Amino acid sequence: MKDEMIRGTAFGDQIRFFAAYTKDTVEEARQIHDLSPLCTAALGRLLTAGLMMGAMGKDESDIITLKIDGDGPVKSLTVTADPNGNVKGMVYNNHVELPLRDDGHLDVGRGIGSGMLSVIRDMGMKEPYVGQTLLHSGEIAEDLTYYFAESEQIPTSVALGVLIDRDRSVKTSGGFIIQVMPFASDETLSLIEKRLASFSSVTQELEQGKSMEDIMNELLDDVSVEDRMPVRYYCNCSIERVTKALISLGNKELQAMIDDGEPVRLHCDFCEKDYEFTIEELKKLIES
Ligand SMILES: [Zn+2]
Repeated sequence: MKDEMIRGTAFGDQIRFFAAYTKDTVEEARQIHDLSPLCTAALGRLLTAGLMMGAMGKDESDIITLKIDGDGPVKSLTVTADPNGNVKGMVYNNHVELPLRDDGHLDVGRGIGSGMLSVIRDMGMKEPYVGQTLLHSGEIAEDLTYYFAESEQIPTSVALGVLIDRDRSVKTSGGFIIQVMPFASDETLSLIEKRLASFSSVTQELEQGKSMEDIMNELLDDVSVEDRMPVRYYCNCSIERVTKALISLGNKELQAMIDDGEPVRLHCDFCEKDYEFTIEELKKLIES
C-alpha cells in the first residue's frame, strides 16, 4: 500500500470525511529527525492530521501549520502542510523516551504534557487565521477533536495512529477525520456514535490488512470517495529560498557576518539540511 489520502462524503452528504494512510511519510520523518519511538508516534499523528487538515484548504496556496506547545519533555511539535498532500514537521526534543502506558502504548500524552494546540491557516492574506485550544490529553487526536468543537464549532471525530516496529521503524500509520454537517439527522449521529464506540483503532485495523477506505466503509454508510491523492514528506527549502532569506536580513546584518570572518551555516529544522555560505558568497549578496 502506498501513502495516500482520500476524502469524500457519506450518508448522502450528511458527513464529510478525510482519511490518510501515512506509513512511508512518517518513516521518512523518523529517519530525517532520528526520532525516538515516542517522538515518531507523536509527530506521525500530527503529520497525518496536518495532511488531512491541509486538504481542507480552498486554494492551492493555502498552508496550514499545526503547533503543539506542552510542558512535557517533548516540549513542542510543528507540522506544516499544503492542500496537495505535502507535509513536513519537527520535534523540539527528538529523543524522548518514557515508560510505556499500562495498556502497552507509547505515552505520547505524558511526553507532551499540558499546554496549547495552535492551528494557523495562512491563506495568502496579511493576517493568518489562528485558532487555539488548550490540550486535553496531549494524545493529539483527542486534542484536535476538541479543537474542531471549540474553535470551528464542527462536531468532529479524529482518530490517529502510528504503530512502531521492534526495530523502531514505522510499522503502520494512518488516521481519519469525520465531520458532521449541520443538517445531519439524529439517526445518522447515533449510528456513527455507536460504530465509533465499538471501533478498535486505526493501527489495529490497518494491521489486519484493511485500507483507510475499508475503514471508512465500516464506520459510514453510502461512502462516496470524491478525491484520492498521494501524500509525502516534503520540504520545500532550497538554496534560492535560503539566499532570499539572507538578503532580506539587509546589508548591515550581512556586513556584520562578513566582518565575523566565518562562513555562515543555515540549518533547516524541517529536513535537517545545512546551507553554507562562504565570505565570498556573502560579499556577492551585498553587491547584488
Ligand atoms: Zn528543509
